[in-house]
Amino acid sequence: MPTRERTCAHCERRIAPHETWYRFALALQGEAEVLDPGAIDTGVEAVLAQLDAFDAAELEAQVYEECSGVLCGACRGVLRAFLGRRPRVQ
Ligand SMILES: [Zn+2]
Repeated sequence: MPTRERTCAHCERRIAPHETWYRFALALQGEAEVLDPGAIDTGVEAVLAQLDAFDAAELEAQVYEECSGVLCGACRGVLRAFLGRRPRVQ
């Protein structure tokens, strides 16, 4: 069975066929809570001004964005640390 060449999505290093690699799928969903309902009425112009500052792709990404790929072992550790997960001690 032929091996596929894989490249780490983070460091862009080629992952050797004998290395363990890690598949990831990430979904980012934008959420917000309105703490002051009165701010909706008074803040419409401010919100519209903010919307003008973004392009359509950025606005869409702020609502929902997903990506997937593979990571090398080192970058898996970086991602886990970023997410606040400690490495497992065996
Ligand atoms: Zn990497």
